[in-house]
Amino acid sequence: MVGRGLPITSQTRLLAVLGHPVGHSLSPVMHNAALQAQAIDAVYLAFDVEQADLPAAVGGLRALKFWGANVTLPHKEQAADLVDSLDPPAAQVGAINTIVNEQGRLTGYNTDIAGFTAALLLVRPSGAKGARCFVAGAGGAARAVLAALIAGGAADVRLFNRTPARAHELCAAARAWGRVRCEVVSAEGLVEAVEGADILVNATSVGLDASVKVSAIPVDIVDSHHVVVDLVYGPEPTLLVAGAIARGAVAVDGKDMLLSQAASSYRLWTGMEAPVEVMRASVGQVGR
Ligand code: NAP
Repeated sequence: MVGRGLPITSQTRLLAVLGHPVGHSLSPVMHNAALQAQAIDAVYLAFDVEQADLPAAVGGLRALKFWGANVTLPHKEQAADLVDSLDPPAAQVGAINTIVNEQGRLTGYNTDIAGFTAALLLVRPSGAKGARCFVAGAGGAARAVLAALIAGGAADVRLFNRTPARAHELCAAARAWGRVRCEVVSAEGLVEAVEGADILVNATSVGLDASVKVSAIPVDIVDSHHVVVDLVYGPEPTLLVAGAIARGAVAVDGKDMLLSQAASSYRLWTGMEAPVEVMRASVGQVGR
């Protein structure tokens, strides 16, 4: 049964998230709660898809006439090459988190860009305007973060990634997205770059496994002048968010961005405004 007594029938529409790992994802809980609240005859599932299987999985969305899907780590960039067309912001960043299937034609969207902006505005009312930004990570999420920071008027961006080549590639791309200075930071320059930034963003997956107590951004040099956005979220505050707050910074984890990007995806599939408070409550329940 789908909530509110709707049975699963041959008419029930299909939505899913494709990722690896995907067990941590709150998207099924959030979207199913919203679908149920609005009595929409659709279900949202989670599929753990290994990288080599992504083309087959995306083809499967078409073959099985899925209504759409979310794409999460580590597939956001590869998936952008597998859809039939891209919404302009998604084409700009070369990464997607949402697929809409219209009569077998798949369109890729990136709702993480607006989702990140919404989360940042909660902790910094002027958003990225005039800010010196430090971003850890150079994957699909980092691409969306850089696009949002640049569109929001960031003064400059310093990018650090475990694999420097990926950071160089992203910075080179980002310079074409707006008049912004994007510099790659080496491990030696990390402390200075963090100390000199106004906004710190963790867009790596470090912290996703709550049992591993590490942070991609050295928490012991965060102080009260910093605004911190950690894209990672879990039942407990991440090490970065807890540490940053303890040191006097304003910090938010990835849940608000998650809600905002999810509401945008939901609107793209259903054409309806998402019941955000229902989604928030469902995530809150899982978090407790
Ligand atoms: P991705 O494309 O797989 O990129 C992962 C990034 O994390 C890369 O920069 C990678 O560095 C880095 N990384 C992974 N393990 C690391 C480690 N042990 N040490 C240092 N760096 C490491 O993933 P993504 O899609 O960008 O997602 C990144 C994170 O953002 C995930 O935790 C995801 O859940 C989160 N996210 C949250 C939201 C939200 O709404 N809250 C939205 C999007 C993403 P290398 O390049 O060196 O591999």
